[in-house]
Amino acid sequence: MTGPASGRLALAHVSKLRAYTPGIQPTEPGWVKLNTNECPYPPSPRVVEAVRRELGADGAALRLYPDPRSAPLRAAVARMHGLEPANVCIGNGSDDILNLLVRCFCGPEAAAALTLPGYSLYPVLVGIQDGTTRAVPLDRAMRLPVDAITASGARVFFLTSPNAPTGVGFPNADIARILGGFGGIVVVDEAYAAFARENAVGLLAGHPNLVVVRTLSKAYALAGIRVGYALAGADVIEVIDKVRDSYNVSRLSQAAALAALGDPDYYRGVVDRIRATRDCYSGRWAEKRGWFTFPSETNFICTEPRDSVGRTGPCVARSAYDFLFSRKVLVRHFPSDALTASCLRITVGSEDEMLVLDDTLDAWLKAPPNA
Ligand SMILES: *Cc1c(COP(=O)(O)O)cnc(C)c1O
Repeated sequence: MTGPASGRLALAHVSKLRAYTPGIQPTEPGWVKLNTNECPYPPSPRVVEAVRRELGADGAALRLYPDPRSAPLRAAVARMHGLEPANVCIGNGSDDILNLLVRCFCGPEAAAALTLPGYSLYPVLVGIQDGTTRAVPLDRAMRLPVDAITASGARVFFLTSPNAPTGVGFPNADIARILGGFGGIVVVDEAYAAFARENAVGLLAGHPNLVVVRTLSKAYALAGIRVGYALAGADVIEVIDKVRDSYNVSRLSQAAALAALGDPDYYRGVVDRIRATRDCYSGRWAEKRGWFTFPSETNFICTEPRDSVGRTGPCVARSAYDFLFSRKVLVRHFPSDALTASCLRITVGSEDEMLVLDDTLDAWLKAPPNA
């Protein structure tokens, strides 16, 4: 069956889906790319060695399927967090883990609660499952509406902490209150935990309904290798494993991830450098420019540009975005969410990239308004 009409055979809820919009990945050189929160520095040299070793002289190992459970990687992740391998599931990126969680815990009768704003992939995944979402709005103070969440009646609650796209971290005390009062699974998506003050891993011991999700895409500089993981009670991991693709993580990815986890000193240096750059620029925009800037515990900064005549708003943010784009500086603008519509989300790049960005913002301010 081919031809233009075949798509109509898709299930009704699938036909209505709107796909996730990833940040632009330009293929030509010359861009300052600050739009998808990738790491500006390369991964540990041990990663490159490990991938070469896995590949061997002739790539013969690629004939063979990878370890279906990524067992050595589960063991390494468990050791790193002081848990057991039975508490770990490895995903083809943390997006894979989030997808598995939606498959297991969401559907037409099992709603998913989420905050607005939050990681915009969750509602897309819930839509694929024909599930229902209950959105809980956040305001500029970014305090978790604990009571609204526990009263949501949802089967699962997805929390991006620190939050994306604002960068604000939520206190463990609030997460613990949700864990105690919410009848479903609480997924704490900690993609940016390496840059944060607190994380929820310590809450796993007392809370069987907690799932912590991590990725190697941001702090470990491995977005291209696609590895993430879930930490949870053994019974939740067993459920996820039933739904998981048997060979979901490639040989090269498993080797790369193991090597990365084996070089914590290198990554401490990378994270310290990114945090220092972040604090320098978020301070500068808040104080020198007088721009409202969310306090970031991530590798990005969410700031509200103020134009040369002192205006803010979605159009001002768009104008700054467009100006930056015209100078080949890529950032992110999320116009559909009220809290972030007047802001830009800017990945913390290298010192050189941030200089270019800051100079280009100066040029935007000097350009005629509405230009
Ligand atoms: C980047 C990001 C992810 C995706 O991570 P991958 O491991 O690359 O799939 C998940 N959640 C949040 C909040 C992110 O920012």
